[in-house]
Amino acid sequence: MTDVFDAIKAIGSGFATTFRHLFRRPITEGYPEYKRPLPERSRARIILTRDPDGGERCVACYLCSAVCPVSCISMQSAEKSDGRRYARWFRINFGRCIYCGLCEEACPTSAIQLTPDFENCRQDILTLVYEKEDLLVDHCGKDPAYNFYRHAGIVTREAAKGEHIGEDPPVNIKSNLP
Ligand code: SF4
Ligand code: SF4
Repeated sequence: MTDVFDAIKAIGSGFATTFRHLFRRPITEGYPEYKRPLPERSRARIILTRDPDGGERCVACYLCSAVCPVSCISMQSAEKSDGRRYARWFRINFGRCIYCGLCEEACPTSAIQLTPDFENCRQDILTLVYEKEDLLVDHCGKDPAYNFYRHAGIVTREAAKGEHIGEDPPVNIKSNLP
């Protein structure tokens, strides 16, 4: 008996919703003349951001590439003389990207970020292959204060051993000898 009442209640609630909408004014957004502001965390076109000092954040660790479920990220890593790693080239095939955001979740440096810019449709699918120069922007994106090399413990021009945020000075191992 309870099942019958539940079914009647569900049907009644459905009809009530339909009835309410019969008397509402329809809302039509005249896109593209009107563009609704989207939340900052919307997942669309991907960018590669810079740290607050203007350096490239990406350290070419391949984590985004490994986690991507459709394998649309590829790159080649390289290292500068000061110890900073970077991507010699970095490529995203937006023709395959499903905008799941897993690359952003996996990135240890906040380099790769999805933006609300969804207007990225092309007739020629080959133009959806973006190179590093198309992806790299000159701002920090959603994480303005973060600089990976200030935390990582890697010796670069940013900081020597023991000078990173939260890092203890190096231990003199000879002081432990008997
Ligand atoms: S958003 Fe998802 S599919 Fe697109 S590049 Fe990132 S991990 Fe791959
Ligand atoms: S974008 Fe982030 S996760 Fe991808 S290679 Fe660069 S640092 Fe690693």
